[in-house]
Amino acid sequence: MTQTIEELFQENKVPKFRLKQLQHAIYKDLITDYDEISTFPQWLKDKIKEAKIPLTTMELIESHRSGNTVKFVLKTHDGHFIESVLIEHKDERKTVCVSCQVFCAVGCKFCATGANQYRRNLTTEEIVEQVLFVSRYLKHQEVRVTNVVYMGMGEPFLTYKPVSESLLMLNSPDYFNIGARHIVVSTSGIVPRIYDYAEIGIQAKLAISLHAPNQKLRSEMMPISDRYPLDDLMKACDYFVEKTGKRISYEYVLIGNVNDQIEHARELVELLIDRKAHVNLLVYNPHEFADYKMPMEKDVIAFRNYLKTRGIEVTIRKSMGDDISGACGQLSGKQLDKKKNKAVFAQREFFDGDLEIKDKSKSPAKA
Ligand code: SAH
Ligand code: SF4
Repeated sequence: MTQTIEELFQENKVPKFRLKQLQHAIYKDLITDYDEISTFPQWLKDKIKEAKIPLTTMELIESHRSGNTVKFVLKTHDGHFIESVLIEHKDERKTVCVSCQVFCAVGCKFCATGANQYRRNLTTEEIVEQVLFVSRYLKHQEVRVTNVVYMGMGEPFLTYKPVSESLLMLNSPDYFNIGARHIVVSTSGIVPRIYDYAEIGIQAKLAISLHAPNQKLRSEMMPISDRYPLDDLMKACDYFVEKTGKRISYEYVLIGNVNDQIEHARELVELLIDRKAHVNLLVYNPHEFADYKMPMEKDVIAFRNYLKTRGIEVTIRKSMGDDISGACGQLSGKQLDKKKNKAVFAQREFFDGDLEIKDKSKSPAKA
């Protein structure tokens, strides 16, 4: 097995401050080769290179741009492919959507990630490295990653330790210095971890994949709701808000004729009206693993308007830049497949308009 850098430093009696310099070179200067470390003597660089210690545990296989979105396919040391997504917003924001597991064991019925067999949790380093690879990609533009969302492959609250550690590293001035308010963890509702997250000590945000306004429908769409029923989930959310003062973002994927009717909107208003909530409506992204349909555009607009006129803050993920959850629901850890990408981006174009004022009641969108 390859030596670690710590072992090599110990063996060669390298003083501790060199580790700090290395950390700076990797996370601040974003070096891609040890030769670029300006603070290291040549003999030390040669020693590290001789020992063949890799700079990162993962390898970038490909990056693929479509409009404002760039997908990165990374290969782990044990041969798994994972995906991260960069969204370059129209404003200054550069958001990275990170994965935390290789596939997911939760098995939500509408999700491509969940349809594949769960393999393993990613390590803290593997989560942080995803932001590192994207940062390197952005280096030539002289811009930095500003936001990170845990909305890629996997359920963050089923792998809490690496997720919370990576989150603190992303926030730390020694690493990426990303403002806690610009970090969002999204969960399908692993109740005990919501209580833990409320105590994490930094102002990171919480998104809940709600997707249904009542226990029965939620259970049908998300079997995890049998284990952690909606009532318990809402109690945990109330605790989070009370403890942190932060508003929660509720994700609601509109699926044609499943949860997209006015009766569902009515129930959703009842559930959220007295809560500090923001609703993010996503449009179902069709994929090969499920039989669901996209909603009609007129139903999406009616749903949004119903919530809005009753005082619920609501947005539709409409532009390429904002449309990350839908894309993330499609992550299947394979190298990119043109057909699948087409479905993702077709949906983005569909909602890349100003839905605030237009209600053209178009025909159903095609994938
Ligand atoms: N596992 C976490 C993090 C993933 S976030 C969670 O579920 O919250 C990805 C978001 O995309 C979630 O809100 C998820 O429910 C949603 N999603 C999954 N499949 C989707 C699909 N086919 N179309 C649109 N959104 C989807
Ligand atoms: Fe897992 Fe989230 Fe997909 Fe559900 S929606 S299967 S929790 S990745």
